[in-house]
Amino acid sequence: MRDIRTATESLSKRDKKYLWHPLTQHKISPDMLPIVSAKGSILTDEHGNEYIDAISSWYTAVYGHCNSFITSRVAKQMQNLDQVVFSGFTHKPAIELSEALIKILPQGQQKLFFNDNGSTATEIGIKMALQYHYNIGNDRKVMLAFEEGFHGDTFGAMSVSGLSVYNGAFEDHFIRVERIPVPNGENNEEVISTLKALISKHNIAGFIYEPLIQGAAAMKFHDPEALNEILKICRKNDIILVADEVMTGFGKTGKYFASDYVDEKPDVICMSKALTAGLLPMGLTSCSQKVYDAFYSDEIAKGLFHGHTYTANPLACSAALAAVELLVSEEIQNSISRISKSNNEFVKKLKSSPKLKNARSKGVIMAFELDVQTDRYGSLRNELFKFFMEKGVFLRPLGNTIYIVPPYTISEDELQKVYGVIEDALTAF
Ligand SMILES: *Cc1c(COP(=O)(O)O)cnc(C)c1O
Repeated sequence: MRDIRTATESLSKRDKKYLWHPLTQHKISPDMLPIVSAKGSILTDEHGNEYIDAISSWYTAVYGHCNSFITSRVAKQMQNLDQVVFSGFTHKPAIELSEALIKILPQGQQKLFFNDNGSTATEIGIKMALQYHYNIGNDRKVMLAFEEGFHGDTFGAMSVSGLSVYNGAFEDHFIRVERIPVPNGENNEEVISTLKALISKHNIAGFIYEPLIQGAAAMKFHDPEALNEILKICRKNDIILVADEVMTGFGKTGKYFASDYVDEKPDVICMSKALTAGLLPMGLTSCSQKVYDAFYSDEIAKGLFHGHTYTANPLACSAALAAVELLVSEEIQNSISRISKSNNEFVKKLKSSPKLKNARSKGVIMAFELDVQTDRYGSLRNELFKFFMEKGVFLRPLGNTIYIVPPYTISEDELQKVYGVIEDALTAF
């Protein structure tokens, strides 16, 4: 057992002086833990304590931290071209990345629009859907979204997200959104009838959805057939399908994209997180020729007037290109299969435990709910976090949901250690 708190007082103290951390109520949060290095699956704190990063640092570092194949490619790029305006100029890293991505994206994706992070990737997805209809002369100003979805923290992205704990203070400023429940097998008919009622009542421009797995809603799964039904109805009504694959993209579900499990393909796909392998921030929004064509015009105002200063930063593009090369490699594909198999076996084992419910896995993602008294719910998350960290595993439970999204490069020993501490938690809590 290690005492994480006192061991790292100095940097923690300095941190508190000027820094304001995300998703943190500082008055009631423990001190931040300084991490000094990361390699492969391991994070190391300033006293040399090691932690297995079982959530790939929020689903980014899926090829392992400081992966030398990727860092060396970025280092090389860094000496050649660091940054240039992407309006009026272009460069090889962006072009090569586009060529590599189009090969692995779900069928129908044709154009890539760069941005900075997951929130801006969805923000642009929403803009594409709204302006698509505006440009072709349709009066459609409402977005459709799942209840409990999460699409990011900028205003458009917040509006379509359903988690009011993040969004409460801003609700008066939201864009117009209607919501449907997530299909869970039992409510599928209700979802479809709600959907049809909303479509007949509102002028819906686009439907934004996290395909198959809603990450921030605590790794909530829904099945591809139910989603397919929804998408079919939307498409029939010329509603632009915006798949938010920021979390699910790049192999985590066992296929390149979660949309690969669904017959009805999206018009727009939002990407970030594992796109750049955890090295540099970048987002991407891809779309079909049909969407692009609605913006392609002699009229300047029909263009997509959105641009971030660091759009298509060459270093981020080179990281993303190296990452795609790894993703399609036999080695990484075999690792994803190995982890999926181990997760399945672990889920089978977990299902016999009376202390949990809803054990599930898809690809490298595995999750379940601890079946504990709700009065412990508030502090449970912090207690679990501390419990896992003291045993050398970084997990970030959401409420009573424990989940893992390990790097594809995690060794079988490391993975078994993660399962082991989860089993310890089942005994301890
Ligand atoms: C993380 C996430 C976002 C937001 O991405 P940021 O880079 O944090 O802005 C959007 N959608 C989904 C599904 C996500 O998991």
